[in-house]
Order: sequence, then C-alpha cells, then structure tokens
Amino acid sequence: MLKIFIAVLFMGFTLNAADPWINIILYHRVVPKTVGAYDVTVEDFEKQMEYLKESYDVISLSDAVDCIRQVKPLKNKSVVITFDDGDVSIYNNAFPVLKKFRFPFSVFIYTNVVQEGPHAMKWSHMKQLLDYGAEIGSHSVSHSNLQRRLKDESDEQYLARLRHELVDSKNLLESSLGVPVRYFAYPYGRYNRTVKEEAVKAGYEAILTVRGYENFPGDDLMRLNRRIVEKSTTPESFIKTFTVQQRESLKDGDKDF
Ligand SMILES: [Zn+2]
Repeated sequence: MLKIFIAVLFMGFTLNAADPWINIILYHRVVPKTVGAYDVTVEDFEKQMEYLKESYDVISLSDAVDCIRQVKPLKNKSVVITFDDGDVSIYNNAFPVLKKFRFPFSVFIYTNVVQEGPHAMKWSHMKQLLDYGAEIGSHSVSHSNLQRRLKDESDEQYLARLRHELVDSKNLLESSLGVPVRYFAYPYGRYNRTVKEEAVKAGYEAILTVRGYENFPGDDLMRLNRRIVEKSTTPESFIKTFTVQQRESLKDGDKDF
C-alpha cells in the first residue's frame, strides 16, 4: 500500500514541476532605444542573456525538436532563442551579444523583408548568421495572417495563397541561402487546421506559435509554444517567463488544432 502511495506521489511529481521543459523565447528587434512595443534594448537583452547563461541550458531549435520528438533526452530545463521577421537590428545588435555568450539561435524570415530597405536583413547578413551556426526558418512570404481569408476568396484561392506563403518562402530561403529550411513560424502566431495541414505538406518539421507556455517531450511539433519578450518585459517578468504553468490554463481562444 505504502509502495503504491509512493509510486503515485512520484508520478504526480515527475509529471509536473520536476520535468525538464523547453522554453522557446521570441524577440523582434534589439535596439539602443526602444520605439515599438516589440523592441528590447541592447542593455536589457545582454542582461537577459546573462541570466540565461547562469540559469539554463541554451540549446538550438534543432536540439529542442529532437528532445520534443524524443529521439534525444532532455537533460535540463532549456531555452531556445528565436527572432521573427528579419529586422537588421538582429544582425547589428543581438548577434554580437549572442556570439559573446556562444548561444545558438534561430531567425524566422518573411521573405518579402529583404526588399524592404535599410531596416531589413539582406541575404549576406543571413549567410553570416548561418556561418556562425544559427538556424534560419520561414515566417511566410508576406507576413499576412494565414488564418484569415480574404474577402470573397474561394477554397481554391485560399489554398493556393497558403501554398504560396508556405512553399515559396521555403524555396526562396533554401535557394538563396543553400541550406534546408526545416521550421516555420506562423505570422502573428495565427493558424487553423488547414494552415497546419498545408504546413505539414510543405515539408516543415516543426512550427512555432506565440502561445506563452513551455514545451515538453512528446508535444505536437506543429504548434510549439513560444513566449514573447518585449518592451514591457521587466527583469522580474523575464524571470517569471520561465515559471512552469499548467496546460489546463490554456485560454478558450487557444484552439487545439
Ligand atoms: Zn512576425
């Protein structure tokens, strides 16, 4: 009887707080002075990296995917650093800090960004990130909300547009950079069943949302959770970012496709 009690207690314990998790964090711009809501100052970014170095294993997205796929054991609480969109401040300001800490990281590019002038990363910038060992994923072609249909758009037109956003961005990144593009980040974190199915068909191995929770081995790779770090993130709330939360607390609006 006592043995059963201990076994049940142990099971309850290991299924909750004691399990190592993977927290994927998301940045957009790292700038000397914040302007937009998604900006983080270089100073804050450096402090946040310092905290991660002291407290967690910073692992690459590929390693995280292998742990979640359960082909590689997850040894410790781990963090994956990601950037969305392709602002040049990632190259100019975040990259030197990441190099200093020797942290792996991933950048999700919407491919139209490279035509957007001086604020955007160029292919040559991305190639330098790849040379360092960073990973580049797709964030669509145009950064539109893939969940939303255009006015009067037929099923066929919607599907064709989704395939363009998912497949053409992957192809362009692969041909321009000469590496396989294995991961996708939903623009605005928005998706539905059709988007998810088309992303799988496009050949992506893992997809990131912006649902602010941690990830565990065995989770659905096509809707990984990710936490946004932004202008309003304080040192306290950054640390709190890594507090394990219960999945049952997912909001009603977060449909589980
Ligand atoms: Zn984005």
